[in-house]
Amino acid sequence: MDKNLKWKFNSVSEKAKETAGAAVALAVFIGGISTIFHPIAVMLSLAYATGTLIQGEILMKFPKFRDKALSKFLKSGMAKELPKDHDLLKRIKKVSNRLNQKDMPRVLIVNADFVGKMAAPPIIRKLFRKSIEENMHRVFGVAPNSNIFITTEEGLKSTKNKKDELDFIVAHEMSHIKTDKFAPARFAQTILKKSSRFLVLAVAATVAASAVGGAIPLISTSIFSAVGSLFIATTAAGVAWKYGSRIAEYRADRNAMHLTKNLDGAVGCMNMISNFNERDMSGFQNIFSTHPIYKYRVTALHDSFNKVTMHDAKVKFAQKINKASCASPKI
Ligand SMILES: [Zn+2]
Repeated sequence: MDKNLKWKFNSVSEKAKETAGAAVALAVFIGGISTIFHPIAVMLSLAYATGTLIQGEILMKFPKFRDKALSKFLKSGMAKELPKDHDLLKRIKKVSNRLNQKDMPRVLIVNADFVGKMAAPPIIRKLFRKSIEENMHRVFGVAPNSNIFITTEEGLKSTKNKKDELDFIVAHEMSHIKTDKFAPARFAQTILKKSSRFLVLAVAATVAASAVGGAIPLISTSIFSAVGSLFIATTAAGVAWKYGSRIAEYRADRNAMHLTKNLDGAVGCMNMISNFNERDMSGFQNIFSTHPIYKYRVTALHDSFNKVTMHDAKVKFAQKINKASCASPKI
């Protein structure tokens, strides 16, 4: 078939936008913290964050490390493997084959508590427990770098009678596995998250030291402005990497539409995962979101459906022409 008619799962311009978002995020963050903290604190926090990133992104690519970490995780009781005869596994296998993926992902049912822990630091979790649980309990997700597909018992329950929606979710997540290895937005997110947590500890250490009359020269401004500036730097950098993250979500939706060709299933899926508050969100809230807000996402799904339909029609037409030209005698 004509190379131009092959479906493009990944586009160079999208990757460029994602990378730009991550690069701006890191520049804003590192620039911001450098004006507040002592260079040693900055270096230590970035070294710590990079170590976590290497552990999570690079080592997990190797089956030896991945399996060891996985078995430890399974032993902790935070997750269990999906039974081999489960319907979800069959759906994943089907999409995996269509995407020519070498290996089937491992599918884990994780404890909803664990997902909450990943999504928010402990204090936030305590304060907003209910809303986080509501948001997290139907989760589906993947770790593309380690080829792991995750869900929760509640996720399985809520999609039990929603086959079209589940097919869209599976196609969306599998597209992430195919296209999001070494995703720049995830890189920036990890660096920011881990490094800023480390710097909060640096502030706490400075406060504790000054309380007992000692001094740790980790901060070059007052404690009050250090906390405020750290918050501003993290938020501003967050806006940049989240822009890249939303690009990756639009891409996974578009690819999922190509795989399922079911607009009702896709929109039904959005209706299922969003509550009414999310449906009323504004464009301003969108810039702080890792996933596009409901109304933008649904609009993009309609666009994707049109693109997919047009693409399929072109392929069909090309095949027809091809057949016709093969059948006609050569002169
Ligand atoms: Zn996604």
